[in-house]
Amino acid sequence: MSHELSLLVETPGGEERKAFICSPYVVAEDDRLRPAGRLGQCPMAAGFDGCRLVVHSYRGRKTGPGFALLVMYCHDHEKHFTVYPPGHVPYGRVAVAPVDVGGFGIRGEGAWHETLFRGWAGCGSRQDLGARADR
Ligand SMILES: [Zn+2]
Repeated sequence: MSHELSLLVETPGGEERKAFICSPYVVAEDDRLRPAGRLGQCPMAAGFDGCRLVVHSYRGRKTGPGFALLVMYCHDHEKHFTVYPPGHVPYGRVAVAPVDVGGFGIRGEGAWHETLFRGWAGCGSRQDLGARADR
């Protein structure tokens, strides 16, 4: 069973394609965070075509969710791709929304503090952007 989520984008040729693959991460038997369920497609797949996917590696990150993310390889499209947890996007240093890696929303005071938006008051100010660039 697949738990993957995806954001569809339209290519210049008018085809819909996934921008990236996102899946909830859960604690696995080895006590590490791993994607829940089995992925069925790479970002290059169209519609509901299945892909022949294999695990390539887990890639450590200096930023972002703070744990190694799954990198897979698609034999059908001959591409590697990273599986992001909910709330995180490619090249993102922090989450875009207060969501835990399992895909559940985080509520309460300060929930947005560790996100890209970091609360409304400082969002977009020059000082705020400078602080983020230093991370
Ligand atoms: Zn594929």
